Amino acid sequence: MNDLAILNGKIFDGANTYEANIYVKDGKISTVSSERFDAVEIYDAKGFYILPGLIDPHVHFALNLGKYTSADNFESGSIGAAYGGVTTYIDFLDPITEYSELERAFDRRMKLAANSHVDYTFHTTIAHPNFSTEKLCQKSLELGINSVKNFTTYSSSNRMTRDGYIFELLKSTKKYGLIATFHAENDDMILRAMSSERTHVPSRLPKYHSFEAEAEAVSRIANFAKLTDGQAYIVHNSSGRSVELLKRCGIPSNLRLETCPQYFVLDSSKYEKSEEIAALYALVPPLRSREDVKLMREHFKNGLFYTVGTDHCPFKKIEKLENANDYDSMPNGIGGVETSFYIFYTLFVKSGILDLNELVKIQSTNVAETFGLNEKGKLKVGYDADIAIFDPNAKWVVSNDTLHTKADYTPYDGLALNGKFVSTIVRGNFVVKDGVFNEKTKGRFVKRGPVFWRTH
Ligand SMILES: [Zn+2]
Repeated sequence: MNDLAILNGKIFDGANTYEANIYVKDGKISTVSSERFDAVEIYDAKGFYILPGLIDPHVHFALNLGKYTSADNFESGSIGAAYGGVTTYIDFLDPITEYSELERAFDRRMKLAANSHVDYTFHTTIAHPNFSTEKLCQKSLELGINSVKNFTTYSSSNRMTRDGYIFELLKSTKKYGLIATFHAENDDMILRAMSSERTHVPSRLPKYHSFEAEAEAVSRIANFAKLTDGQAYIVHNSSGRSVELLKRCGIPSNLRLETCPQYFVLDSSKYEKSEEIAALYALVPPLRSREDVKLMREHFKNGLFYTVGTDHCPFKKIEKLENANDYDSMPNGIGGVETSFYIFYTLFVKSGILDLNELVKIQSTNVAETFGLNEKGKLKVGYDADIAIFDPNAKWVVSNDTLHTKADYTPYDGLALNGKFVSTIVRGNFVVKDGVFNEKTKGRFVKRGPVFWRTH
């Protein structure tokens, strides 16, 4: 006897569209069939679309920056995720320099994540480490982590990893089956842009973190990928012009690009209104020009982005505004985990530019494949029963009152969106059912072993 039957839905599995019933037993998908079988619980999904649970590879819950901590902890963040169709996310360990810090960094985040309501895993984060790339890879894998985040900038706060180490690390990724991920901006260009101004204000963000600084660094990572054959992944690509340069130089198949929703519907005109508004939209990379946004949409349509993350990292208004005239004292980041899919669905699917399967691939299947989440991202027998049930006809307008974040504003306020997840299932358990949250459903840590990308 199955535990759950989801009947009459239209399945979009990231490749094909078809009508079938999905059956769940012991947290796994047990049958996908047009036939009727018995189940303890029956869910009628008539009129809805059935998608594999989405996977957000880039969130920052309970990110402690010293004075400020990001507004969503693992509980509220994961609830927002569930309402956005997300059944697994990848957060980050705190940056480490010493080898001995890695296990402690892992334990610390694991404790905080214990109250997550959907599944989770972490990227190891390094900050100019003083130990070998071999030890880094071996220890990460021992902890069940197969990805390592690098910053090519932030030397001023000691988070930058230098090119020599990056080059070695990429060679090691190939050997051990790891993925090196990069926040890629040219450190020296940023330092110079900032040092030329005596005081720093948020409205000048696009000047400090210019698209050229991003373009230079992503190109460098692409070159390292070509030289090493390692597995390289660039997070939060923000600039259409930067991606254009990459494209012209050639994006090797062992380099994968992530982007985020904010770079598709928000632009740098937010920085021109007032320092207060600029502060609310202070994030890195910053919002880009209208020209960039237009190009980003073209690149998305043309399949240049392998995954979508959100870089979900909201702060409270007061935290953003209490130093609105002092960029150096304010926390960077905005929210987005709950709204991401709807933004892309509205922009690309509802408008007829892309097939829904294309979006499902980018927000689920590709993420699972890239980061070795081997039992997720597919609606196939034997996979985890992570299922998102979507009403394609819903229409709504974003307002912070209806979101589940603990932040007190949303950067998308007033944005009209299409589609809504009505129910979200994690390993066979409803975390949201017909719009109602079920606190009993708990997430768990997903171990990830070595992964070797299929490249050509
Ligand atoms: Zn981030």
